Amino acid sequence: MRGMRQRTPLAFVLAVVVLLSAVVPAQRRPQPTVQKRPRLVLLIAVDQFRYDYLERFGDLFGPNGFRRLLSGGASWAQSNYDHMPTYTAPGHGTMMTGAYPAESGIIGNEWLDRASGKRVTSVSDESVKLLGGLPNDPASSPWRLMASTVGDELRLATNDRAKVIGISVKDRSAILPAGRHANAAYWFSWTSGTMVSSTYYFPQLPAWVTSFNAAKPADKYFGTKWERLLPESEYTKRAGPDNPSWENVPSTWNDTNSFPHTITGGAKSPDRNFYTALDYSPFTNEILVSFAEQAIVNEQLGQDDDTDVLTLSFSANDYVGHRFGPYSQEVMDVTLRTDRNIATLLDFIDARVGLANTLIALTADHGVSPIPEHAAALGLGGGRVPFGAVMGKIQAAISARYNPQGKTPDPSADYLLRFSEAGTSREWFINNNIYFNYDALRRDGVNIEEFSQVVVAAALSVPGIARCFSRLQLLRGATSITDPIERRALHGFYPARSGDVVMVAEPYKYIAETITATHGSPYSYDTHVPTIIMGAGVTPGRYLEPASPTDIAPTLSALLRITAPSNSTGRVLIEALRR
Ligand SMILES: [Zn+2]
Repeated sequence: MRGMRQRTPLAFVLAVVVLLSAVVPAQRRPQPTVQKRPRLVLLIAVDQFRYDYLERFGDLFGPNGFRRLLSGGASWAQSNYDHMPTYTAPGHGTMMTGAYPAESGIIGNEWLDRASGKRVTSVSDESVKLLGGLPNDPASSPWRLMASTVGDELRLATNDRAKVIGISVKDRSAILPAGRHANAAYWFSWTSGTMVSSTYYFPQLPAWVTSFNAAKPADKYFGTKWERLLPESEYTKRAGPDNPSWENVPSTWNDTNSFPHTITGGAKSPDRNFYTALDYSPFTNEILVSFAEQAIVNEQLGQDDDTDVLTLSFSANDYVGHRFGPYSQEVMDVTLRTDRNIATLLDFIDARVGLANTLIALTADHGVSPIPEHAAALGLGGGRVPFGAVMGKIQAAISARYNPQGKTPDPSADYLLRFSEAGTSREWFINNNIYFNYDALRRDGVNIEEFSQVVVAAALSVPGIARCFSRLQLLRGATSITDPIERRALHGFYPARSGDVVMVAEPYKYIAETITATHGSPYSYDTHVPTIIMGAGVTPGRYLEPASPTDIAPTLSALLRITAPSNSTGRVLIEALRR
């Protein structure tokens, strides 16, 4: 934000300099102790972006995107999330708080709210209204985030003169890195094709956002043919054939497994089917860059010494990755396009703010596993553990223990919590968590510790289930810090929101997931992501010290000389900081 600056007459300054020179010898003059902060902090998050994408496709990057950050900044080659589940909201809740989900409270994209008995998302908020979208669409806010962010702390440090804005396609990815005291968060509505926000931030959208939406920024992509950027041979070399058997796009998606992909969603003109199809293309990343440029100009980000924060999370990479898997030509292509998107954004910021005045962090919210059928074909043990196989074993074990005479109705039938989803009742099973029905267990005088043991033992008897932790075990901290799986389960457990049993599949296996490719596990393909920081005070280089995206917020805070966010537990990455 621009402020009134006091001007000191030049003649007076010169007089003081001459006077000081006469008194203090040049070499003994004291160094200034107050250093200027950067004018802008830019967080770039790429949704579902594995560290190895930087290596597998790195020789094809241009000079001004990832390569500029890798050569001009510090990059940690061993950066892993130390929590599970490795999902979008927990990752985005970590980047700018430096906190594990166990402290941010953002334990999943969704969870069961025990108080209301309803499924909630990490950012759903019935008390606010959507701005810029369809009138009855649900709205979102950061009210479930339990930790402050770098942006919140900068606002506190500058008496609110710092401006903090979050942008993404997904609401959670725009809202969580910006924080609870942010000026604004904007995300893309797949029902209206516009950039939206909520009344949490302001009563109405700023005029520049309304103008941006009036130009229908999404509609110009209707019917676009998504082709490869480079010759097919480059893709075959790095990602294999375009249409392997494990890529399996259902016909209802109005898409194919191979290039070119025509972006219409089966619609005759832009509608919600088209906007959804657009989400599964690389092109929303371009919309986000245009929108971020508009935010920089219209909100005057980085124009004075009160450091502003812009967080930008690219979501297209995640949608494309879920549909085609990490070893697809499509993921390779969206990665190469993201390199160009980042170059466009950095060139713009360089011209407007100056990269020398900008502190940049780049990371991802999680990686992704190979498609299970692909991993199976390679002999890596890939596979799917059906929902019925897990719940069937658990229900049978509960009945055998608590209804040994086989009474009907079975009094133990409601011991696991159920919820209504899409009109059907099913046992709560989310984030590989199961929730107990405490009322029913109390009614029948069931010992919860013993009940936990029955459920855990049953879960562990299901082929494909590697580990299973109970709430009691995690609450007692009865876990090993040297076992990364246990530690990651503990770091992802927030008592008021998590379930009573937490399951982990074997590597390359998905529990109850029908989606082509996904993430969420504690394994390296899901945890190993880039952590890159570039800016004044950072010594460029490739660092091999263990690091994590939880280290970004405390490191930025150290560089900014502000209080670290409230629950920041990450490490300051001192190996790259100038003393
Ligand atoms: Zn994600």
